[in-house]
Parts: sequence; C-alpha cells; structure tokens
Amino acid sequence: MSVTELENLDTIVSLAKARGFIYQSSEIYGGLGAVYDYGPLGTELKRNIRDFWWTEMTRRHDNIVGLDAAILMHPKVWEASGHVEGFNDPMIDDKQSNKRYRADMLVEGHIARLRGKGKAEEADELQQLLDTAGSREGLCEDLHQIIMDHEIRAPESGAFEWTEVRQFNLMFQTQFGATSSGDDGDAVYLRPETAQGIFVNFKNVMDTARQQVPFGIAQVGKAFRNEVVARQFIFRMREFEQMEMQYFVEPGTDEESYNNWLNKRLEWHKALGIRPHKLRTHPHPEDKLAHYAADAADIEYEYPIGWQEVEGIHNRTDFDLSQHHEYSGKKLEYYDQKKQKRYTPYVIETSIGLDRTVMMALCDAYREEEVDGDSRTVLKLNPAIAPTDVGIFPLIKKDKLQDLAHKIEQDLRGDYKVLYDESGSIGKRYRRQDEAGTPFCITVDFDGVESEGEDTVTIRYRDDMTQDRVPVSRLREVISDKTKSWKPE
Ligand code: ATP
Repeated sequence: MSVTELENLDTIVSLAKARGFIYQSSEIYGGLGAVYDYGPLGTELKRNIRDFWWTEMTRRHDNIVGLDAAILMHPKVWEASGHVEGFNDPMIDDKQSNKRYRADMLVEGHIARLRGKGKAEEADELQQLLDTAGSREGLCEDLHQIIMDHEIRAPESGAFEWTEVRQFNLMFQTQFGATSSGDDGDAVYLRPETAQGIFVNFKNVMDTARQQVPFGIAQVGKAFRNEVVARQFIFRMREFEQMEMQYFVEPGTDEESYNNWLNKRLEWHKALGIRPHKLRTHPHPEDKLAHYAADAADIEYEYPIGWQEVEGIHNRTDFDLSQHHEYSGKKLEYYDQKKQKRYTPYVIETSIGLDRTVMMALCDAYREEEVDGDSRTVLKLNPAIAPTDVGIFPLIKKDKLQDLAHKIEQDLRGDYKVLYDESGSIGKRYRRQDEAGTPFCITVDFDGVESEGEDTVTIRYRDDMTQDRVPVSRLREVISDKTKSWKPE
C-alpha cells in the first residue's frame, strides 16, 4: 500500500468545503476575507476538540474553574491591558494596486526569496536588520528604510511605489448604545483575546468559587482581530475562537509552574492524536519577549505552510492584575491565610486557537492511499474527536437488513454520533466515511441475520480497513475498546 501525506494546504481547503467541514463566510456574496463558517462535520469536529480541551482543564484539575465572559467589555479594560496603545501591526500600501501588506512580513518574504536563490549572506544581513528594527529610529521608520534600501517590490503587482509604514490597530471598534461616537474615549471593542475577561473577574471567581492560589480559570470564546495579512485559510482569521486558561500562582513558584504547564500542554496535543514528530516547542528568546512576559514559548505544528504556532504558553507575571488594579482602583490581590501573606499573584497563561487546532487535526489526519490499484482519501482522526463515530449500512435495501440497521442506529444514537446510509455501493459508502474521518462502519448482511443464534454484523475499521464479525450485543464494547486503544500512525 502506498501512502501520501498532505503536501498542500489547498487540498485541505477543497476537502473541507466539499465535505462540509468549513466554508467561506457569506460565500454567495463573494465571501468576507478571513472569516469562515463551520459546516455540519466541521461543527462536530470543532465541538469535540473544544470538549477535549475543556475536559482536560476543568474535569481533570479540581482547581481550575470555568468562565464565560462577554465579548464586549468596558473601554478601560483595553487601556489597562495595553491594547489601545500597543496592539498594532506595521502596514504599508502598494500605491499601484492599493493592496495592503504587513511591512515585517514583506521583508520576511523577501528574505525567503533570497534564500531560495541561494543568496544566504544577503538574507542573513537582512534578517539581522529585521530583528533589530525598532531599535534605531522607530519600528515604522526602520521597516520603511529596509524596504527602500533593498528595493523590495510588491509581491503581486511588482511595483515599487510604497506609502509610508504606519501602525494599524488590530482591534475592531463598534458603536455602543445610541449616543456613543467612539471619539471621547468611550470606544467599545470586540475583544481581541479572551484573557482580559478572566483577569477582570479574578476577584469574583476567587470569592465565589472558594479557590485558593494556585488555581486556574478556563474560558473558551470568540476573539476578533482585524489582521492586515489574513490568508492561509483558518490559520489567520479575523474572527476566531480561543481556549485560554490563566493559572494564578504565588510569585517565586511561577517558573516551575510555567515549565509544568508547557509540558502538560505538549502532552495534551499528543493525546489529541497529533503525531509527536510534527510537534515541537519553540521558546521565545529573551529579547523577543512581550513587555509583560518573563517567559514564553509556542507549541508549534508542522503545517503544509511550515512550522507555525498553535498555542502560546506565557509567564505574564503580575502585569495584568497590577494594571487592572491601577486602572480600576480595585485591589486584585490574594491573602494567603496559612502564610499570612498578601500578594498579587503571577499568571501562567496557556492560550490555544481552536481554529488552528482544527486545521492541525485535519492536516495531521489526511492521507491518500493506493490499495490494490484503488485509491482512497482518508482522515485518520482520533476517534475521540471524529465528527461521526459510526456509519451504519444495510448491505442492500431489503427490509430484513434495513430493520436491523435501524435498530442498531436507534440503540447507538444518543451515546454516539451515528449516520445511517443505504445509498450507493458499499465501497462508495465506506469511501465517503473515510473522507469524513468516521472510525467505524457497521454493515448488516444476510449472513449475520440469517444464521443461527444472535444476529451478527461486520464492523470495519477506518485506519487499516480490516473487518471483524461481531454479535450486535458486543458492538458498544468493541467501539469503546478500539477508541481507547487508538494511536496515530
Ligand atoms: P501570531 O503570532 O500567529 O499572530 P499571536 O502570538 O498573536 O499569534 P496570541 O495572541 O498568543 O497569538 O493568541 C493565542 C493563540 O490564538 C495563538 O496561538 C493562535 O492559536 C490563536 N490565534 C491568534 N491569532 C489568530 C488568528 N488571527 N486566527 C486564528 N487563530 C489565532
């Protein structure tokens, strides 16, 4: 059997659309850039991944509790967090095509092209300049100078007619109530991250959930960023979902906790079924840390677009709680009864993009296989997150087979996501479920219903296409055992 893995992101984009995982938003109107809708299979997959994370965080840790904060928050929140002032990307416009680019990414693209042409020395020099941009004049001025000096042209039009580089705030601003103009410091934003909802509720949760430091608050929700460069499918979206957990610890224990969470999170990705050799951690060098962070690392996956961040683990120190204390005037401290000590806790953050995780799961599971001259596309998803658990097929449309198939369907429905299908050849039905990532298919045939004793059916396993004949009463046991013992190939 020959097996081909995913080579190109477009393959996943096409499959996602064709099978109803993910569609472009408002497609019939030409689409809305970097905004996507999840179809029937995608919704199930996303929900399963979300549940997998939620179970890990809040069920397996008795000191982590949940929160569901609103998307709209008081304008002061984003002043305190630093987003109004600093949540910017440097952008530059090509005057010929009116296309907008992120200035730093433009330079990165040029560096990659130089490397492609074997001009390693020039590429290294430029990389050095990019790494230190902002330390001479200012980030915008430095980036503009680099683009000018190296005559970097617009990738699409080929023109060299650039505007100045300007900072572009990534937050979406909206009207709040009938009288707000947004001009008087009363601008309301769609949250660019879910974390701040956790920080401003720190005291509420501590008081009401009777938690003692160390404890964590977990949240899943939408975040919005008006990304300048938004492409690469659901990797960089303008509306996306984050799964974040902020863990409050005593200062001095933060480093150990940070390392602990980094390890735990990497293990979670493996437990999700992602092949370990496609995962790595990437610690941020000290001079690249955000102003509030003492330590930071990304968990990266090797997507067809290269190694990219799926999750960030950050030691945010006491920055956020101190800032909100200062801006709100409300003390956000913890009193340790045993040690008789008052302090502002440090925060270890684990922040993962749900959509990037969906994309990782799809990319990692994708295979094209040639079997005895026949080919199939299959998604070898962990059965624990597969959109459909079980396909149920009568071999042909005969009452006896349909009746038993429906009986099994009714029995499993509720505990499992099942799909009854009687149309087309059995081979075609298997292929459809392979592409949807369904791990088990049950086929009802005459051998099974006409032989002596209990009715039997065949259960076919997606990954190796082997089949077992099992009594109907053992189906749940087999599905459960195989789900638990599943390993990625
Ligand atoms: P990047 O450097 O790729 O822009 P980031 O460092 O700004 O990401 P964080 O602010 O740390 O990202 O957000 C945490 C997680 O949220 C990221 O690891 C990623 O999975 C997800 N995320 C961030 N921005 C987007 C986006 N535009 N679309 C989809 N997911 C995103």
